[in-house]
Amino acid sequence: MPIDLKNLTIRKAHEALVKGDYSAVDLAKEYLEQIKKTEKDIHAYLEVFDDVIDQAKVADQILKSGKATLLTGIPIAVKDNILIKGRVATSASKILENYKATYDATVIEKLKNEGVVFLGRTNMDEFAMGGSTENSAYGPTKNPFDLERVPGGSSGGSAAAVASNEALVALGSDTGGSIRQPASFCGIVGLKPTYGAVSRYGVMAMGSSLDQIGTFGKTADDAEILFNAIRGNDKMDSTTLPDKKSEENFSVKKLKIGVPRDFLNIGGIDADVVKNFNESLEKLKKLGHEIIDIKLPNLKYSLAVYYVIVPAEVSSNMARFDGMRYGKRVSGANGIEDYFLSRQAGLGREVKRRIILGTYVLSSGYYDAYYNKANIVREIIKEDYKVAFKDVDIIATPTAPNVAFKIGEKVDDPLQMYLEDIFTVPINLAGVPGISVPSGVKKIGEKDLPIGIQFVADHGREDKLFAISKDFLGEK
Ligand code: GLN
Repeated sequence: MPIDLKNLTIRKAHEALVKGDYSAVDLAKEYLEQIKKTEKDIHAYLEVFDDVIDQAKVADQILKSGKATLLTGIPIAVKDNILIKGRVATSASKILENYKATYDATVIEKLKNEGVVFLGRTNMDEFAMGGSTENSAYGPTKNPFDLERVPGGSSGGSAAAVASNEALVALGSDTGGSIRQPASFCGIVGLKPTYGAVSRYGVMAMGSSLDQIGTFGKTADDAEILFNAIRGNDKMDSTTLPDKKSEENFSVKKLKIGVPRDFLNIGGIDADVVKNFNESLEKLKKLGHEIIDIKLPNLKYSLAVYYVIVPAEVSSNMARFDGMRYGKRVSGANGIEDYFLSRQAGLGREVKRRIILGTYVLSSGYYDAYYNKANIVREIIKEDYKVAFKDVDIIATPTAPNVAFKIGEKVDDPLQMYLEDIFTVPINLAGVPGISVPSGVKKIGEKDLPIGIQFVADHGREDKLFAISKDFLGEK
């Protein structure tokens, strides 16, 4: 009997592995089989590892020894900006095409200790800049629900892998929506944890004050189990939070959910997305939760603030890719020319655009007008959330203003692409956790395109996010 990958969860797989219904090797083979079937259409992976079966054999040993955890033998996909020792890691960029990681990211080390099975590294927008996976130097990933459409991004490969059952769960990174938006476009669950909840050691930096590693799963429970395995204070990342459990108890069945109505009326949002969102609120009410109108008056500045701060941090973080220490090198007449030629050949358009923009907003004379101003407004946005979370447990919005768009539709219009991030970027600016869960579909022609709802909670309150998500999805 083939394993039913479509309905498989971590807990179900774990139970079967422990009972001996199948082995970790059987499970890994099943996923490799599925990858063989669908990957030529989807292109979720940049590389499927050659040692998957060997890893699964090790997992089977751990299972036999009785020391297995929930994650032992669980097949997982990893975004290509997270380092796995000895493996190529490119961030989907040409400039790192031959770069091999010399150490494990903390999240990888933690998962190795649990005996997970790494299936491969997934496609993404180059250095996580983008929202469609079209900025990959290795070609776009396709949306499993409609191969003509994008899976979202930048963690589009990870989302598409889980949605097409090419992995049970996956890791991504989220700087302004890169986990939640592809989760929404691919009809799965995607968590962006609190800033500092998960170590960024061994993750290629994009916008260091916003980046977080997070998790994808078909269920909120899967996303939670994986999050619990990777979270925690890390001496290698001084921005990680201390390990302490939140003490406040809350009634899972009666949460106060704030809805920033004014922010939802900004225009440019698909009518079907709005309709679906309102239906979701009705559903939450029926489940016993209270819906409250709230104001987040400064959220309207989020995109402007984000697209100043991110390029600024990008321009600084990307300076290390100079063709001398890492990756691709093109030789010129002298050192400076080497640098120009290597970056010219090695980096894509969106990355260059942000480096130029970032260098501009950080240059003397403009620094105060742009970068400093953006940071001041960022504080005001944070304050909006602080005030709101005095009255509510959760804030709900759609995850994205539209369903998955067509490949090529927005590539030549960066501003249109940036507008897709309207609901996700404020959460990163404030450093609070957010999750996207599937809330329905929009029918276009023959295709059912997924829609997601985003729940946001106060710092460190992922527990509330999982509670509301499970209730909403009808998970136990
Ligand atoms: N789409 C956003 C951007 O292009 C978010 C990217 C991300 O979260 N890594 O910046």
